[in-house]
Amino acid sequence: MTLKCSDCGKLLSSIEMAEFHGVKSGHENFEETEEEVQQRSPEEIKAAIEAMKKKAEEKKKQQKALEQEENKKNFRILQKSNDETAEAKRQLQNQTRLREFQKMRQQKLEDQEQRKKILAEIEADKKKRAAATSSATKTASSTDAPATEKPSTSASPSTSATTKAASRGPPSSGRFSIRHQGQVCNLVIPAEQTLQDVAQQVSEKLHVPIPSAFTTTFPRATYKADVFERPISQLKDIFPSAVLLPSWQ
Ligand SMILES: [Zn+2]
Repeated sequence: MTLKCSDCGKLLSSIEMAEFHGVKSGHENFEETEEEVQQRSPEEIKAAIEAMKKKAEEKKKQQKALEQEENKKNFRILQKSNDETAEAKRQLQNQTRLREFQKMRQQKLEDQEQRKKILAEIEADKKKRAAATSSATKTASSTDAPATEKPSTSASPSTSATTKAASRGPPSSGRFSIRHQGQVCNLVIPAEQTLQDVAQQVSEKLHVPIPSAFTTTFPRATYKADVFERPISQLKDIFPSAVLLPSWQ
């Protein structure tokens, strides 16, 4: 029995073949026919196989070309996104660097300003002390001269000399500007006290643990535990005034 697919006209030699064709193609309408399913000659079969092979190869080639095109496209997309990421990264780096630079400059300006202020205070202090000394000397000599006789005049130069020596002596206190994370704390510490006392006050005023070291920027130096017990008046580079950065180890 021969069946013919009414949808595409294909001849099918059995019901099984028709079912198979129906499943494969989705065609549903079949009719009985008198036509014979043509047996193919070996040459025809060979040619059909060749044609099928050629078709498969063609398809493979197309697939490959498509794949390559797809790969290229994906690569371009990846490249572009890499470029964009790199550009964004660079911009971010530039911004960060700029911000750091501005922060540094700001800090430097503040340090300079602070230093100027401290120097001005010291200068004013010096002038005040000089004025006090000169008026003391004047009072001393004016009270000395008329009241005393010859033997005591020999004593007066020595007293004025000691007063002068005292005024030229080292300052009685150190002034320190402590910088920590944007906070500033100004301390006046008696000359005989130590960096340990400074550290103690920093801890109390800035509400931080007691620092274990201090650093200065001009000149660059670090003061650690080994000098913490020495009187600040012995630390020539930071006495009588300095900007100190506390640190903890
Ligand atoms: Zn069909």
